Amino acid sequence: MDLVVARPEGLYCPPGNFYIDPWRPVDRAVITHGHSDHARSGNQHYLAARPGGGILHKRLGTDIDLQLLDYGESLVHDGVTLSLHPAGHVLGSAQVRLEYQGEVWVASGDYKLDDDGTCAPFEPVRCHTFITESTFGLPIYRWMPQPQLFADINTWWRANAEAGRTSVLFCYAFGKAQRVLSGLDTGIGPIVSHGAVEPLSALYREAGVALPASRYLGEITDAAELRRAIVLAPPSAQGSPWMRRFGDYADGFASGWMQLRGTRRRRGVDRGFVMSDHADWPGLQKAISATGAERVFVTHGQVNVMVRWLREQGLQAHGFNTEYGDEEAENVASAAAAETVEAAP
Ligand SMILES: [Zn+2]
Ligand SMILES: [Zn+2]
Repeated sequence: MDLVVARPEGLYCPPGNFYIDPWRPVDRAVITHGHSDHARSGNQHYLAARPGGGILHKRLGTDIDLQLLDYGESLVHDGVTLSLHPAGHVLGSAQVRLEYQGEVWVASGDYKLDDDGTCAPFEPVRCHTFITESTFGLPIYRWMPQPQLFADINTWWRANAEAGRTSVLFCYAFGKAQRVLSGLDTGIGPIVSHGAVEPLSALYREAGVALPASRYLGEITDAAELRRAIVLAPPSAQGSPWMRRFGDYADGFASGWMQLRGTRRRRGVDRGFVMSDHADWPGLQKAISATGAERVFVTHGQVNVMVRWLREQGLQAHGFNTEYGDEEAENVASAAAAETVEAAP
């Protein structure tokens, strides 16, 4: 029996009568993590991993009916044993393990294998059937080791500070910004967070994640101090009046899509840092093989490429039609389209 099927509302577990990350409102929703394409409003009842509780309340409202499970804790619902396991993607992200009549399925949500210190590291879970994302499922996507990435960011920041220019680093407010923050060298200068970033960083700190101190822009009154600062801001701040205080600043963008030729230029920033909270191509392969699954469903991203590769490995593989994207998805589609146009003669 299939423990998960794709329905118009979302991924559905027939014996348990609940959904995983539904994109339309349902009665019972299991949420893998707080990114907006996976955690939507309007569901009657929510179930999620405990470390993500604060984020879900912030994004979906304090009045939602939210039940929290510790990682590894299990509950039985209509004969289905359900447990949540770390996905290493963002704070509170979970893979959903379902067991029913001896069959085990795991739905990954979004995941990353590198332990970044800002959330519980990815844990491989053995299963018969694995449901995976494939956001960066192309051989061109290979992330550099994290220490090297942070060395690059800090070197860029230091050079700007010494030249008397504020460093503005655009990054998504939930997950990416906290990961950048965790790797910054506080000896270089002050760290400033945009108003969309700082409350989420505060939730990370409340959840026990050690992050360097960061301040709101209004808390820095000395112009010379501001010129030594690094500013973490969401992409939506780019070109907004909020940027005016920085004068002649240097800017960068942290995203997995920076691996794509042309993305940095289209974003109009000085520097691109390739940083993702998703698994790269080797990471996807490693994660899938660690599950021992003989059948794999692919939910979003490079679905066809991944299905073909899995079949070449002798696995049963299929795509699921879902409405998941990525917080950065608009960026992806336009970047890929622009690249195609540029490549045309
Ligand atoms: Zn996500
Ligand atoms: Zn996703």
